[in-house]
Amino acid sequence: MKALSIQNLKKTYANGFQALKGVDLEVDSGDFFALLGPNGAGKSTMIGIISSLVTKSSGIVSVFGHDLEKDTNQAKSCIGLVPQEVNFNQFETVKNVVSIQAGYYGIPRKQALAQTEQSLRQMDLWDKRDLVSRRLSGGMKRRLMIARAMVHQPRLLILDEPTAGVDIEIRRAMWQMMQEVNRQGTTIILTTHYLEEAESLCRNIAIINNGEIVEKSAMNSLLQRI
Ligand code: ADP
Ligand code: ADP
Repeated sequence: MKALSIQNLKKTYANGFQALKGVDLEVDSGDFFALLGPNGAGKSTMIGIISSLVTKSSGIVSVFGHDLEKDTNQAKSCIGLVPQEVNFNQFETVKNVVSIQAGYYGIPRKQALAQTEQSLRQMDLWDKRDLVSRRLSGGMKRRLMIARAMVHQPRLLILDEPTAGVDIEIRRAMWQMMQEVNRQGTTIILTTHYLEEAESLCRNIAIINNGEIVEKSAMNSLLQRI
């Protein structure tokens, strides 16, 4: 089963700008997949469409066999999104940031608390659970974003520049955590500006430019060619 299947996806924004010009893409279940491309290439537009935040103009997107249009709720429940900007309520405690998210998915309270603990532990934040989230360091805030996105145990995690602006040591620690999440069976799609990040984490890669996929390959075969 494909984690993600995209066919002839197009997006024209209201101002007439065509951000996606017919994208075809498949991501295997269990993959750690990199979506790379320069600023303005269409990465955020694509991620926005996959996570139902942006409406597509045409094309078909399905997530674990659930058509985004026809089985919207099932598709959505398969996805966890970590957006680029820190966007949680910084006056909430670390624990509440995650458990409030669980509430959005209608997870019963007891189970929600158990899953909150599990995802905070996975991101090494359980010790910080009672801290007001504003007090966390930049790297911890990024990890909290990931913990929040995982609380409903999505099968596909989409990470939009998860380590942007984070120190190299903290970035490496985050790599290990992401790899562990992938090892446990979660499919991950990552966008990043750090080529070494994609290189060390991802098995497959697609490069997008000007709204078109210009390269799709296994990471090791790409590295042999450049
Ligand atoms: P849609 O076609 O999906 O309805 P809109 O064109 O209405 O999208 O724009 C959605 C939001 O994105 C608006 O708030 C708009 O200000 C903002 N926006 C417009 N142009 C750009 C741009 N070039 N880059 C990023 N955001 C933009
Ligand atoms: P990336 O994430 O790869 O940097 P984006 O998907 O954000 O690329 O943007 C792709 C292109 O679409 C850019 O040229 C951007 O300016 C444009 N764009 C993004 N959002 C909007 C919008 N709401 N309205 C009009 N143009 C947009």
